[in-house]
Amino acid sequence: MTKAGLPHSNPASDASAAGSGPALRQFVVKVHSRCDLACDHCYVYEHADQSWRGRPRVMSQDVVAQTAARMAEHVIAHRLNTVHLVLHGGEPLLVGHTRLRRIAQEFRSALDGLCRLDLRLQTNAVRLDEQFCEIFRAYDIKVGVSVDGDRTAHDRHRRFADGRGSYDRVVGAVQLLQESRHRNSFAGILCTIDLENDPLRTYETLLALDPPKIDFLLPHATWNTPPPRSGPGATPYADWLITIAEQWFAAGCPVPVRLFDSVLSLLGGGPSLVESMGTDSVELVVVETDGTFEQADSLKIAYPGAPAMGMTVFSHSLDEVAAHPAMRKRRRGIAGLCTSCRSCSVVRMCGGGLYAHRFRAENGFDNPSVFCRDLKKMISYFQDRPRLVRASRQTDAERS
Ligand code: SF4
Ligand code: SF4
Repeated sequence: MTKAGLPHSNPASDASAAGSGPALRQFVVKVHSRCDLACDHCYVYEHADQSWRGRPRVMSQDVVAQTAARMAEHVIAHRLNTVHLVLHGGEPLLVGHTRLRRIAQEFRSALDGLCRLDLRLQTNAVRLDEQFCEIFRAYDIKVGVSVDGDRTAHDRHRRFADGRGSYDRVVGAVQLLQESRHRNSFAGILCTIDLENDPLRTYETLLALDPPKIDFLLPHATWNTPPPRSGPGATPYADWLITIAEQWFAAGCPVPVRLFDSVLSLLGGGPSLVESMGTDSVELVVVETDGTFEQADSLKIAYPGAPAMGMTVFSHSLDEVAAHPAMRKRRRGIAGLCTSCRSCSVVRMCGGGLYAHRFRAENGFDNPSVFCRDLKKMISYFQDRPRLVRASRQTDAERS
């Protein structure tokens, strides 16, 4: 599963409870721990942490109810206006129609009247059908679909265990979400970058699917398992993204691209829109199918047990989770970054990249991102193009 498409929240609009630490506002809830695809780039099953093997397949209704109760308790304590929740996996649609309805009902009921619940679901879409779409509509669930490009690009990794590609099923699901009665449930497309795929062809293919938003994600990598083609001086990921950005600007920014919009927002002094950039405080926690709290699950690529916190929804409150040393360490902003990042000219925009991408076995996370050169080049590209930035702002204003 690719990372959840969590939007940026607005802490300024929420009051903090006197005497307690910063609030958590973003929740990734793993309602199913297995998947119907066997993607070879999956961080859940194909990387260092294999904790999924010991977890229940499906989150029980008891765990769902207790998670919802913890969230309600936290919302009240911190007087939050909005919380963001992504139903995630594995593959969340594996829970089936009946259970998905019960899960959505539980979270909606627990938070009704307390705050706005931005409820989302991130799926490979292989099982997405009319009945699921009815549930999305009934419970106002916004759905993100993982699509890596055209058939060749998508099926390069996103295959069933028997080797069949999933492209046709996914495109069929996207077409269903495009229908006017379901369109409001379609949140956008998440695309994991693979340098084997032509950037413009990938972008044009995704654009043709008419998503309300596109997001590009760097592949997961660490200093011990570096990304492909990351030799000295090389910036292949920046080059891939800049090729798309050139086309995007030239066409008048026809669709929001979350990564680009995030850089533009940060350059304009605004917030980051993605977890992988900026120095905003970490507000995200994961709940696994057994009710275990974990840090961002991209940490699964670092080493076995890397996201673990030793806390569960039954034994710990979200304030206790927020006070965990690992969470506090990641809430120190620029001061919590390594020496190179602290003295970097683009640190406020980059923020050292995704936390997991800083990992090196010898010294943990006290490093720049393994994508450092790419991030710096991409940010510099946007910095050097004030005219294009102004044009995109104008487009934003026209959109709103
Ligand atoms: S769809 Fe692919 S990447 Fe997502 S959880 Fe399943 S195997 Fe992993
Ligand atoms: S560009 Fe590199 S050095 Fe600068 S903040 Fe990002 S990761 Fe750190």
